[in-house]
Amino acid sequence: MNRAIEQGYQCCLRCTRLWPREATACKLCGKPLHSRTPKSIQATTAHLITAILCYFPANFLPIMQTTQLGQVKDSTILGGVIVLWELGAYPTAAVIFAASVMIPIAKIFALGWLCWSARFGSPQPAEPQTRLYRTIETIGSWSMIDVFVVAMLVALVQFGGLLTIAPGPAALAFCGMVVFTMFAAHAFDSRLLWDRIEP
Ligand SMILES: [Zn+2]
Repeated sequence: MNRAIEQGYQCCLRCTRLWPREATACKLCGKPLHSRTPKSIQATTAHLITAILCYFPANFLPIMQTTQLGQVKDSTILGGVIVLWELGAYPTAAVIFAASVMIPIAKIFALGWLCWSARFGSPQPAEPQTRLYRTIETIGSWSMIDVFVVAMLVALVQFGGLLTIAPGPAALAFCGMVVFTMFAAHAFDSRLLWDRIEP
């Protein structure tokens, strides 16, 4: 077993420098040091629950409100994907569907599973789970793609009274979902995954 904790070391999570276990703060970057982030699972779970609460309004409320010649039309994320598909913009429809519907729910499930594994144990080895965690952290910021699409459309399509596009109430919920999933990923201490392994 080669865990740093057993050899009297702890790692700075910001600059990855190793310090003796007695150190309380990193002498290079000043970050407080903990062998395991305190209350990591609780914080991750709380952020995940908030993200799940945002997921439903984000997908069921309109994300975009189009006004064309006085007619107001609301469209949800899924509605927008269907319209794009029907217009023949298959790659855009696929990217928005993956980034806005599939990946957020996959990330929430994966983080929930990692939390469960860290707390109650899992037959899965820690290494692939750590890799999964790193993937979740890396793709985090890409989930904002839908908000960018709406923001771009709002900025581009303001043709006076003929056609206007405004963000709907789901845009805020969607931002909340993405941000809270990112907070959850950030709050999770992946070192906890290695604690349950038999030496
Ligand atoms: Zn540091």
